[in-house]
Amino acid sequence: MPNHDLPNPVQVRDMLGRPLRDLRISLTDHCNFRCVYCMPKAMFGTRYRFVDHAGLLTFPEIERLVRLFAGLGVGKLRLTGGEPLLRPRIEDLIASLAAIPGIEDIAVTTNGSLLTAAKARALKGAGLARITISLDSLRGETYEAMNDVGFPVAKVLAAIGHAAEAGLQVKLNMVVRRGLNDDDILPMAEHFRHTPHVLRFIEYMDVGNMNGWQPQDVVPSAEIIARIGERWPLEPLEPSRYGEVASRYVYADGAGEIGFVSSVSQPFCRTCTRARLSPEGTLYTCLFGTSGKDLRALMRDGAGDDEIIAALGAAWGSREDRYSEIRSLLRARGGGQKVEMFHIGG
Ligand code: SAM
Ligand code: SF4
Ligand code: SF4
Repeated sequence: MPNHDLPNPVQVRDMLGRPLRDLRISLTDHCNFRCVYCMPKAMFGTRYRFVDHAGLLTFPEIERLVRLFAGLGVGKLRLTGGEPLLRPRIEDLIASLAAIPGIEDIAVTTNGSLLTAAKARALKGAGLARITISLDSLRGETYEAMNDVGFPVAKVLAAIGHAAEAGLQVKLNMVVRRGLNDDDILPMAEHFRHTPHVLRFIEYMDVGNMNGWQPQDVVPSAEIIARIGERWPLEPLEPSRYGEVASRYVYADGAGEIGFVSSVSQPFCRTCTRARLSPEGTLYTCLFGTSGKDLRALMRDGAGDDEIIAALGAAWGSREDRYSEIRSLLRARGGGQKVEMFHIGG
């Protein structure tokens, strides 16, 4: 079995020596939520132009690209969006991707709203091992205000149960925005202690151009760790692999693991091995990218595999991205128009 725990010396590397290992695929930019930190309702109403059906990459196109990416060292996939479960028969795509040599791990990130018991079983049956469900609060009022479509939290809690019953390994993502849901940090930690589900606190990021991000809205992980550690002492764990996004901790009393994604306060660009594919097939090499390579045009114009592999290698080989490390500098300069997070996935 190939060892993907260490950077493979023969695989493609970027300008800063980082290997290409992960691909995040945004299956659609549509979403049934309007989370205030991602797709604020005022900006994403009826007049916003989402990618139409014909513009989306088809499942065979995605499968072809993943096969080519796998040849360049990609072993991990994350299917995201927008809301990925809005793509009908996503389980068929998962089954075909799981069969590609070199693909060792597939995960899905979802808001959980469409995750019925039957869907969870179908995803598991297709070969999915892991699912990340986003949950920002246990309080109905706060949760509904954050998704901004009044979606009830009880349904997401039920979805977490469905995923676990189907045998999926479950992680929870909680984006913390000061003044909005930082009161929920301890209740969320308490709720998921003594469960196999790993809760991850995500620092609120300045993704896209429309969420009105201000540095003071970020609750740094150090503060969250201190708040939780005061109540339930924590012990840090070593990263389980090169390029891991979350810092991992365990509760000293044996109540399980939690994680922290500190992209604002402690950027991890130095080991960033992630490429991203937008719903219409544009390749970005950073979550904060301003431009990308149009792979759909290449495929639909009849390019052969060699030509596409050359384009992928060139895009990664010329990559210098490290937005989070130089955020203040770029923001001060005004920067370019960034791609939106729901467009290239989280
Ligand atoms: N719709 C799915 C969901 O919400 O899980 C998948 C796409 S969503 C863009 C992926 C992840 O990005 C979610 O966990 C979401 O909470 C997170 N996210 C969105 N906007 C964010 C922001 N401004 N800062 C930090 N995380 C954000
Ligand atoms: Fe939709 Fe996910 Fe963005 Fe919320 S975070 S608006 S669920 S894509
Ligand atoms: Fe990777 Fe860009 Fe995020 Fe840095 S800012 S970790 S380069 S996606």
